[in-house]
Amino acid sequence: MQEDKLTKLLYFDNFKKEADKIITTEKADYILISMNISNFRYINDVYGYEAGDELLKQLAEYFYFNNPNARLGSRMHADRFVILTAGNESTEEKLFHRFFEKHAEFSKRMESKYPLAKIHVNAGACRIDGDFRSVSEIIDKAELARKSIVDSYVENIAFYSEAIAEKADRERRVIPMFEQAMKDERVLIYLQPKFTINTQQLAGAEALVRIKDTEGEVVPPAAFIPTLEKRGLISDLDSYVVEQVYALVRSWIDRGIEPVPVSVNLSRLDLMYEMKWEETLKSLEKYQVPKQYIEYEVTETVFLEDMEYITAKLGSIQKMGYKVSMDDFGSGYSSLNTVGVLPVDIIKFDRSFVQNSINTGKGIQIMSGIIDIFKRIGLEVICEGVETKEEENMVASCGCNLVQGYLHDKPLPLQEFEEKYMVGRKA
Ligand code: C2E
Ligand code: MG
Ligand code: MG
Repeated sequence: MQEDKLTKLLYFDNFKKEADKIITTEKADYILISMNISNFRYINDVYGYEAGDELLKQLAEYFYFNNPNARLGSRMHADRFVILTAGNESTEEKLFHRFFEKHAEFSKRMESKYPLAKIHVNAGACRIDGDFRSVSEIIDKAELARKSIVDSYVENIAFYSEAIAEKADRERRVIPMFEQAMKDERVLIYLQPKFTINTQQLAGAEALVRIKDTEGEVVPPAAFIPTLEKRGLISDLDSYVVEQVYALVRSWIDRGIEPVPVSVNLSRLDLMYEMKWEETLKSLEKYQVPKQYIEYEVTETVFLEDMEYITAKLGSIQKMGYKVSMDDFGSGYSSLNTVGVLPVDIIKFDRSFVQNSINTGKGIQIMSGIIDIFKRIGLEVICEGVETKEEENMVASCGCNLVQGYLHDKPLPLQEFEEKYMVGRKA
C-alpha cells in the first residue's frame, strides 16, 4: 500500500479506507487520535526544513511505530497526524497517562536536539462506539477535541465530549451573530466610571463592549471576543468601538458637556496584524477630539508576543498624543523592569493582584512599594475591580488615588451613564 515517503505512514485516503474496514469488520473497540505540533512553523523557521522533517519522522516513530496499541497511522498533511489505536482496556485516564509519558519522552528528546524549540504535541481523541457512521466523522470529532486545547501548554490530550461539541457549536454561531449585530446596530458600548478617591469625583470611563442578542439579552465580551480574535475579526469590532467613542466625546463637546477621558481596549491582534491601525486613528481625526480624552488599554500579555514590534506600535500611538494604559497588570507575567522600557503612561492593576495584595501585611508593603516606583518614573496608577469601601481604603493607603469597580458603578449603557454622570457637567 502507498505510504508517505517521509514518515512511512499511510496516505490519508488509504488510511480512511483501511480504518473503515477494520472498524466495521472487527468487533473490538478503537480510539482515533488526531495530533499536531503546536509550534511547527517556528521549528522550520529557526532550524530549517530538514529539522522539521526529522521532527515529523520522530513523531511517527514515537507515537505510531513504537506504540504496540497503534493499528493504523497517517500524516494528513504538514504536521497533522491521525492514529487508530486499540481501545479495549484503556480507560480515558490510562490513555491520558500513557500519552503524557510518551509526550514527555518525545519532547525531552527533541528539545535536546533543538534547544530553542518548546516541543508541544496536541492530541484529540475520539472513542469509536456503537453509532459509528464514518471515519471522517470520527476524525472531525477528534480534531474538535484537539482544537479545544490548542492554546494550552498544560494539557496535551483531550477526549471528544458533548461539552466540546457544544462549545464548538457556540463558537460557530459567534461570527454570524456578530455580523448580524453589526448590521442591526446591536453592538453596544457600555461605560464604567473611574473615580478619584480623595475627591470622590468622576475621573474618566472605560468603554466595554456588549452585544444585544435578538431576544434582547446582553451578551458579555467573554462570549465573543476570543472567537473574533481567533477568526481575525477583532479589528472590525475594535475600530467600530473606537469610532463610537470618538463620536461620543464629540457629542459631549457639541452639547456643551465637559468630557472625561474614555479608555478603549485594543486587542494585541489590532497591533499585530492590523497594518491600518494608524490609518484608522488618522481617519478619526475628523472628529476633532482633543487627544487627552482618548486612552488605549492593552493587556500586559501583549508584550510577551513580540516585544519590539508591539513597543514600536504603541510608541507610535503615544507619539500621536494618546495615553497608553497597561491593563490587567499583575494578573500574569509582568515584570517590573520591562515596565520601565515600555511605551505606557498608565498602569492598571488587575482585580486579582489587588485582592491578593491587600490581604496580608507583606502584600500591602509590596503593593505600596510598586506603586511608589511607578509614580516615581512618571506613571499613573489605577486599581480595577474595587468592590468595597474597605478595598478602596486599602488601595488609597498604598498610594493609588484612582479606582474603577462595582463600589462606584458597574458598566452602564451609554444613555444611563450620560444621565447619571455627564449631564451635570456643563463646560
Ligand atoms: P478589562 O478591560 O480588564 O475590563 C474590566 C472587566 O472587569 C470588565 O468586564 C468589567 O465589567 C469587570 N469589572 C469591573 N468592575 C468590577 C468589579 O468591581 N468586580 C469584578 N469582579 N469585575 C469588575 P467585561 O466588561 O466583561 O470585559 C471583559 C474583558 O473583555 C475586558 O477586560 C477586556 O479585556 C475585554 N473587552 C471589553 N470590551 C472590549 C473591546 O471593545 N475590545 C476588546 N478588544 N476587548 C474588550
Ligand atoms: Mg480594560
Ligand atoms: Mg483589566
